[in-house]
Amino acid sequence: MARPAPPGERPVRPTLAGDARLLRARIFLIFQDLGLIDPLLRAVAASGYTTPTPIQARAIPFVLQGRDLCGIAQTGTGKTAAFALPILQRLAAAHPAPGKVRPIRVLVLAPTRELASQIEDTFVKVGANLPYRSTVIFGGVKPGSQVAALQSGIDVLVATPGRLLDLAGQGYVKFDQLSVLVLDEADRMLDMGFLPDVKRILKMLPTQRQTLLFSATMPRDIQDLAGQILRDPSRVEVAPVATTVERVVQWVHHVPKSDKRALLCTLLADPLVTRAIVFTKMKHGANRVAESLTKAGVPAEPIHGNKSQAARERALGNFRAGATRVLVATDIAARGIDVQGVSHVFNYELPDEPDTY
Ligand code: AMP
Repeated sequence: MARPAPPGERPVRPTLAGDARLLRARIFLIFQDLGLIDPLLRAVAASGYTTPTPIQARAIPFVLQGRDLCGIAQTGTGKTAAFALPILQRLAAAHPAPGKVRPIRVLVLAPTRELASQIEDTFVKVGANLPYRSTVIFGGVKPGSQVAALQSGIDVLVATPGRLLDLAGQGYVKFDQLSVLVLDEADRMLDMGFLPDVKRILKMLPTQRQTLLFSATMPRDIQDLAGQILRDPSRVEVAPVATTVERVVQWVHHVPKSDKRALLCTLLADPLVTRAIVFTKMKHGANRVAESLTKAGVPAEPIHGNKSQAARERALGNFRAGATRVLVATDIAARGIDVQGVSHVFNYELPDEPDTY
């Protein structure tokens, strides 16, 4: 029985995450139940995954059957493995028509370089025991090594839309044997203005294919797109891992604008702040805040779209490794980034969109 909360303590209420765990335990206990082949099960075990997450438990069987899928799930729910595992199993079962180089059979489109890289990392991790090849292509770096990878023959291509169109336009990408398309974070593609690019890419693909669409939210435009590209899709919706309201304690500090930086410095000096992301709206704002924090003795690194890919990866790598305690990011740069153990998030400037918050 729930005890009444003593004065001053917030009452404890059941969380969505708790419900999700119950659901998971009731439906599937282990990955073996999902019908995955041994090389994938071994890779899953080596990755330290013991229990399928709700999106994995529900999506994997549909994708294995070759069905189209509309997955409403956020980053953090395990959605990447939810599509990578069954896609790799289907690849393992189907052999491409013989040719000189391996043809691209799977295309995954993602809105940001960081997300695209994380997706490819997951394919590499869960596909470690299967003989397939993947690569990731994105803008902001010289195309040379990406072109070389494409020419060497790739089964799974993960790409951001702009660079893909660029290289396809130059004849480096052929999709005649493509059998699976994944559109990941479709709502963010839309927010970032990629929808026209995505539509151009769709025109280059065979119409006979399996299509999976993942989106955290389902605005009208994405519903329309889903209606156009998915055939008799299964729909799988999972709750976010935890919503901010449930798991995160939130504060608002009312201060004059001129005092914001000093307050941020004071808050960041707290030893309880072990790993923090500070959000600004603009790229130059991120630079200025990171500089002033560093000058004030709180070393901070900025990450945003104007930085080179190498600089972004370095900043993120330092943050992941704990070498940098504070990352100052624009929301676009930080989308889809998955870093464990962030203790605090500071919205130095509030985003315009509630979803982004
Ligand atoms: P994603 O939503 O795909 O970005 O995944 C979020 C994080 O969950 C990543 O760090 C994954 O490695 C991890 N993950 C995915 N599936 C599982 C699982 N079944 N058990 C534990 N961790 C997982």
